[in-house]
Amino acid sequence: MNPSIRIDLVSDTATKPCTAMRQAMANAEVGDEQRGEDPTVNALNERVASLLGQERALFLPSGTMCNQIALAVHCRPGDEIIAASSAHIVGSEGAGAAVLAHSVIRTIASPDGIFTAEQLRSTLRPHRVKAPRQRVVAVEQTSNRGGGSVWPADVLQALIDEARGAGLLLHMDGARLMNAVVASGVDASLQAAPFDSVWLDLSKGLGCPVGGVLAGSADFIAEADVWKHRLGGAMRQAGILAAAGLYALDHNVARLAEDHANARRFAALLGEIPGVSLLNPNPHTNLVFFDVSASGHSAQAVGRHLLEDGVRIGIESSHVMRAVFHLDVDARQTTLAATSLRSALA
Ligand SMILES: *Cc1c(COP(=O)(O)O)cnc(C)c1O
Repeated sequence: MNPSIRIDLVSDTATKPCTAMRQAMANAEVGDEQRGEDPTVNALNERVASLLGQERALFLPSGTMCNQIALAVHCRPGDEIIAASSAHIVGSEGAGAAVLAHSVIRTIASPDGIFTAEQLRSTLRPHRVKAPRQRVVAVEQTSNRGGGSVWPADVLQALIDEARGAGLLLHMDGARLMNAVVASGVDASLQAAPFDSVWLDLSKGLGCPVGGVLAGSADFIAEADVWKHRLGGAMRQAGILAAAGLYALDHNVARLAEDHANARRFAALLGEIPGVSLLNPNPHTNLVFFDVSASGHSAQAVGRHLLEDGVRIGIESSHVMRAVFHLDVDARQTTLAATSLRSALA
């Protein structure tokens, strides 16, 4: 964090490893991860596989690599992936699906990033030799640019049934799956087990410096491991990083509820500021999106004004901003950030 930033709401990736996490990292038993000899990486993989109700899991350097490897394993050149138009794989991964999986993404428009079995059905086409082969349905739980929205269990189940009926594979971008688990009370394995691939980000609200863990069947993970090596994602004494993940799963999951409470607190305070219009007035989890156009200021101008006050809020477009709540922002700072926003707009 830039030292002049006191309250950083730009992303939950702003979280820094706490002293106890660093201690766990320093004490980690390590070995050569590439040879399968790092006991801490192996322990993290087993822990996440069981958490997600999957056979095996694979520690990777980032969530983006989890998505890209999963799509590359699932797809053949010319395949089609179906996802919400706001999905991270659509707009935030350097067109990796095109470059690595040689596939196209068919998008479904959805303001909250959630789409139904009926919407999926309307994108399905009969098999035709000239059409791309429809291969994977990708779900983002929670939906980041859908406002941190949580896919309800019944919507998810109907979508899974529809996809299976159509012979499609299912991928879950679970960057913030644990936020969804804490917000909904629906167990991670119940949500994740029906998917052919699913992953968790350790470097977002869970507070680790690095990493994501991709899970699936033993066959899927064997293929994913080939891609991990191919892309240069295989590491050495990565147990130092995996130890942070194990620490986070022990200590930083239940507390995500505090981030959700702060997001709701912030949204309520913003609701009272003239010129601010909330895009997700009832945040399900830790993200708050709002539009400042009615204030007559651009998001960039508001962002600059906030920075002078030591507050950083993400700029999504010329008029939309995103505030993300995480373990390095408490209730008092949440209130201070709303006060700064009020004065930036005055
Ligand atoms: C952050 C994010 C990713 C990518 O994860 P990185 O660890 O930053 O590579 C993928 N999907 C979603 C929904 C995200 O929010």
